[in-house]
Amino acid sequence: MTREYLKKATLTAKSDASEVHETVQNILADIETGGDAKAMEYAAKFDRYEGNVLLTREEIEAAADLVPEKLKADIRFAHDNVRRFAELQKGTIGDVEMEISPGFVAGQKVIPVDAAGCYVPGGRYSHIASAIMTVTTAKVAGCGHITACSPPRPGVGVAHAIIYAADICGADKIMAMGGVQGVASMTYGLFGLPKANILVGPGNQFVAEAKRILFGRVGIDMIAGPTDSLILADSSADAHVVATDLVSQAEHGYNSPVWLVTNDRTLAEKVMELVPGMIDDLPDVNRENAFAAWRDYAEVIVCADREDMAKCSDEYAPEHLTVQAEDLDWWLETLTCYGSLFLGEETTVSYGDKATGTNHVLPTSGAASYTGGLSVHKYMKIVTWQRATREGSRDVAQATARISRLEGMEGHARAADVRLAKYFPGENFD
Ligand code: NAD
Repeated sequence: MTREYLKKATLTAKSDASEVHETVQNILADIETGGDAKAMEYAAKFDRYEGNVLLTREEIEAAADLVPEKLKADIRFAHDNVRRFAELQKGTIGDVEMEISPGFVAGQKVIPVDAAGCYVPGGRYSHIASAIMTVTTAKVAGCGHITACSPPRPGVGVAHAIIYAADICGADKIMAMGGVQGVASMTYGLFGLPKANILVGPGNQFVAEAKRILFGRVGIDMIAGPTDSLILADSSADAHVVATDLVSQAEHGYNSPVWLVTNDRTLAEKVMELVPGMIDDLPDVNRENAFAAWRDYAEVIVCADREDMAKCSDEYAPEHLTVQAEDLDWWLETLTCYGSLFLGEETTVSYGDKATGTNHVLPTSGAASYTGGLSVHKYMKIVTWQRATREGSRDVAQATARISRLEGMEGHARAADVRLAKYFPGENFD
């Protein structure tokens, strides 16, 4: 049996890239020449904000006073989990060295980048969790300076809880600046900030395009498109929970695809029956997003068996992948393309998005076929070093000289020759 699409997307997650590219290119060029004043001009234009850009300690503390105690405790809980998970990840790569040949030692060293620029989106929702995910991992990695930047709301500034989260997670500077002007300010080192070595964090298509254009002069974590999610469910799944989870991810944006892949047609039909009512029941903004995402981007696919479900899922390479099916170990072993995997009904993407410690900055639009999400490793350079005794040069120098001459690189060969002559006088090497 071939796959049966009970619901097929009419749109796919692609913005009008050429238009966004031109807009972003022009803003970046303007800010590169116009500096702080130009960045502030764009903040006034796009976010109707004319307040302080780099938050003072007094402003940070005033914001913390306005965050309810219960929410502060939740933010600290999430921060603690993200920090401990990042520390676990950091322990999985490390410095190594070995004696490659007698007297010759080669090594690997892991060095954190110095300045990290963390973009915390804030146009539509206040992404408190993105502040926790990006700043905490930069801190655990050991970056020397961390800037968190987030779009200010007109007359209000950055959401108080984002300020509180960025501060407790370890941001050295918090900047009220969003979109291209925020990304540009961190990259060009405006407002007295160090020039960022790496830009991380999700954002809308303007933020993503700015990162794409700037990549090369600054490192980036990834280019993020709209959030996407896939659920693999078999007959053991609870249709109500599956439908709720699909709707929870469709609310991200009008173009956030959610996909259901199953081998149980009855379950698929039940879920499709439940989803519209659940969307209707959401508050206004969320309803609009979820409604459009479900109408235009969602898909419901019936496969013959679990092997084809796994294959289908790997073809989509979803950012978030949930399995609500029997034999979770089999799925964990079999699936290969996903940003983050949620095994069983007892966990859900919302948990990972906010508080369980695994990072929520994840590859979208199929990028999970070649990369994972944000982790401490993205901030860390794996570099190499070597040193040798004089005796160590004996074999290496001869091989180097011969290979170099064969390549026609006489200068390289002589760098080896000079050492052979100096360390082993009187010996003949051909
Ligand atoms: P945002 O902070 O990314 O963008 C807001 C900024 O966009 C504003 O500051 C403004 O300067 C700029 N802007 C708006 N219109 C513009 C225009 N016409 N020209 C130039 N600049 C313009 O916030 P958002 O818009 O809410 O988007 C957040 C995105 O982040 C969503 O797509 C969401 O799905 C995504 N997200 C992804 C993850 C993940 O891990 N993948 C996590 C959280 C959020």
